[in-house]
Amino acid sequence: MAYILKGAVSFRRQPNPAARLRRMYKLLLQAYGPQRWWPARAQFEVILGAYLTQNTAWKAVERSLANLRAAGALTPDGLRDVPLAKLRRLIRPSGFFTRKAPALKAFLTMLDKEFGGSLATLAATPTPTLRQRLLALPGVGPETADAILLYALGHPIPVADEYLRRIAERHLLLAPSSGRSRISYDALTDLTRYAFVNDPASTHAQIFSEFHALTVAVGKAHCGRTARCENCPLAADLHRAD
Ligand code: SF4
Repeated sequence: MAYILKGAVSFRRQPNPAARLRRMYKLLLQAYGPQRWWPARAQFEVILGAYLTQNTAWKAVERSLANLRAAGALTPDGLRDVPLAKLRRLIRPSGFFTRKAPALKAFLTMLDKEFGGSLATLAATPTPTLRQRLLALPGVGPETADAILLYALGHPIPVADEYLRRIAERHLLLAPSSGRSRISYDALTDLTRYAFVNDPASTHAQIFSEFHALTVAVGKAHCGRTARCENCPLAADLHRAD
């Protein structure tokens, strides 16, 4: 049976990567339990975190968020009052601050000019329109846009990252499209969407949120630059790809 996904994906030996990915999700849920990412954080703090975590470990992001909290800048109003030079200093711990500080200010400018400064109005924008708008902002690629949409604004959209790419490569779920050396971001998110297509639409945001968090958990514990497959919850699936 062929699966046709947007990223012109070709599959290797395994015929049903979406069903396998779904099983892998269940294995991870059994092993690690629900991750419930960012449930206690305010929307705007999640947006800040999505920018700050680019190319940076979360521990460094937490130091920047602590600085922003101490400066009263974890809300749109608070951040608006912080001059750019000070913002650079506050977010220095999470790196790339000369790029990330103006990017955060650009987000705020868009929020104010196009959405009346309201995160609720922003969140109520249809997903495809809002995704395109976010992608047009400086410093926002697909992973950041989708993390904002899913975790801050509650849109049912999957997020992919390097951990998921490694899992897909190592388990032979996907192969890069011709002429490419790596599996594309769109192929990873399409596969994720397809894996859960039969679940009720009302559950997709929750599932995509947990799925991404669980792949990060297994990536950190086992599937880094070097795979440590022993005792990995996904080892059983790896043998299917042999
Ligand atoms: S560590 Fe091994 S078994 Fe675990 S996800 Fe990575 S490749 Fe799969």
